[in-house]
Amino acid sequence: VTTDPALYPTERLTRVQEAVRHAGIDVLLLTPGPDLRYVTGYDAKQLERLTCLAVPASGDPFLVVPGLELKAAQASPAGQLNVDMIPWGELTDPFEIIAAKVGNPGAVALSDRMWALHVLQFGRALPKAGQQLASVVLSPLRMRKSPAEVAALKAAGEAIDRVHANVPNWLRAGQTERQVGVKIAEAIFAEGHVSADFVIVGSGPNAASPHHEVSDRVIEHGDVVVVDIGGTMPSGYCSDCTRTYAVGAAPDDFTAYYEVLRQAQQAATVSVRPGVTAESVDHAARQIIDEAGYGQWFIHRTGHGIGLETHEDPYIVEGNALPLADGMAFSIEPGIYPGPHGARIEDIVVCTETGYQRLNNGPRELVIV
Ligand code: ZN
Ligand code: ZN
Ligand code: ZN
Repeated sequence: VTTDPALYPTERLTRVQEAVRHAGIDVLLLTPGPDLRYVTGYDAKQLERLTCLAVPASGDPFLVVPGLELKAAQASPAGQLNVDMIPWGELTDPFEIIAAKVGNPGAVALSDRMWALHVLQFGRALPKAGQQLASVVLSPLRMRKSPAEVAALKAAGEAIDRVHANVPNWLRAGQTERQVGVKIAEAIFAEGHVSADFVIVGSGPNAASPHHEVSDRVIEHGDVVVVDIGGTMPSGYCSDCTRTYAVGAAPDDFTAYYEVLRQAQQAATVSVRPGVTAESVDHAARQIIDEAGYGQWFIHRTGHGIGLETHEDPYIVEGNALPLADGMAFSIEPGIYPGPHGARIEDIVVCTETGYQRLNNGPRELVIV
């Protein structure tokens, strides 16, 4: 699968270096994970052997890479960057290689998902350096998706929508959650993802446990089932979408709050436009659920950013006064979980120059299977 070169533009590294300078950081140090992929396009394996991109505030960025990973690094999009690759052998200390090149920095930023194994070694090799999170530098950049990134998220959304379109064929009384989950996971791959990151099939009382995965519970007639699924596309960008299904007619008390939930999800979505705060989108959903008397059962934030990670900035939560801006992509996923059953509706939404665009477009009405 070829990746759109516009997804990982070579000039991004220059912008990142400018951001390092502006943040007052001496060196940004990125080990394998979403930060490194964002900056270089290199989807490197996270290993005990150190792979690390160093982006100094001034001077040339360089990539320290285990000798046995060098060919993979050169073949990756990082090979197209003007970055010196420094292979190290099994008997050398890669932290000392970096320390020798960057002098004695006072402030370093480390990728948020760096292993403690490496964080502590950097503490030893760069003893004067205060350690900060790379997100100080990268989060403002990663939050604003480029048109190519929005296109990648849209393709992910369409792929997971196709999986949801088939869920009614597999959700049957007599099947276990796990049996349904296996079929969904296969479909996540079949529709173009390279990994199935999570499959939640919460039936009956399990529908009221937002992060339930699957169990051996047998789905019964009259159950409602929360299906929250997502994966990663070859582009690196993620999908995440929830729909709630009813196996036969749903109980009346359920139908009443499902309609409240649908209105709350709609109200939060249409409130999205540049300049409104992240917390105001949460409030738009919560107000409707509160006023209908179900507020105590809406026990999580309204949403999370999405991109190279399923959960990233910006978080759609009370207390986050960040003004939305075009290119920001996030979930809008209110839920109501009274106990005997529960429901959630989740779409990925992008803030555009004038409003919003939904990246999931399957029906939000209760689907009776
Ligand atoms: Zn979640
Ligand atoms: Zn989800
Ligand atoms: Zn989500």
